[in-house]
Amino acid sequence: MFRKPENIVTLKYMLQTAEKGGFAVGAFSPRYSPIIRAVFRAGQKMHSPILVQIAQIELQWYQYTLAEFAQAFWDQFAIERPTVPVGLHLDHTQDFKLIKEAIACGFTSVMIDASAKPLAENIAITRQVVEYAHARGVSVEAELGRIGTADFMESETDEELFTDPDEAEEFVLATGVDALAVSVGTAHGVYTVRQPRVDVERIKAIRARTPVHLVLHGGSGTPKELIEPAIHLAGGGISKINVATDLELALLQALGRVSRLTNEAMKAVSEKDLAPGLAAVQAVVEDKISRFLGSQNHADDYLD
Ligand SMILES: [Zn+2]
Repeated sequence: MFRKPENIVTLKYMLQTAEKGGFAVGAFSPRYSPIIRAVFRAGQKMHSPILVQIAQIELQWYQYTLAEFAQAFWDQFAIERPTVPVGLHLDHTQDFKLIKEAIACGFTSVMIDASAKPLAENIAITRQVVEYAHARGVSVEAELGRIGTADFMESETDEELFTDPDEAEEFVLATGVDALAVSVGTAHGVYTVRQPRVDVERIKAIRARTPVHLVLHGGSGTPKELIEPAIHLAGGGISKINVATDLELALLQALGRVSRLTNEAMKAVSEKDLAPGLAAVQAVVEDKISRFLGSQNHADDYLD
């Protein structure tokens, strides 16, 4: 295992500092390996910490491997040489084997998502991952409650799927997890059937019971007015927000595509043709950093 550059930091350190500074760090999924550099460029230009992430299901959608994503990350890191704090995060994963592989490839944090399982089982699986990852200096995010998809309604109100503050306290104590994805009204994907909301009172109640860092999934398409109060909570609010869909929509539009490509097909696009796509993704990331996350010019918060 090679030595990680100094500005490659753990999720725990990333989020501790964000909480203190009253901002959230964006976890951006470039989805395609050639697009990772757009996230580096945006972070560098905005002088903001950034997280680059990929989820198990995205690797399936785009038909490539975690090792290939990691290699592209390190190759592009060496070329772009960002100096802002950077983390490499494995998003939603059910598979312990993939988590071990990610850690071997230099990921600085992993998300074990056993939220579909009963509480006791979610605790047992998450605790195992925490033991393995912490022994290797890697942070862990888990999920409690169910974060659905934006184009699908799981129940009349979905509130029954929201994270329960008492359960959150028990879960964090039992697992030692560093960050917790909470279900408070946002969802993955494009909001069609559902409308985003952010239950700030619930976030306050969870944070009052546990010092764990809180993560909001489904950041795409959620208005800034809903997000801001959740970040700026006395005593700590949301310190990580995942954004994936908005990046891909901008990318495909800039490339004049109507549907998804495989990663191989994206790699086959010439540098010249890819340039507007990279610029579009970079612009979206910059916009999220400055208008949404409030992480602009916070890179120096990590110097001490
Ligand atoms: Zn998610």
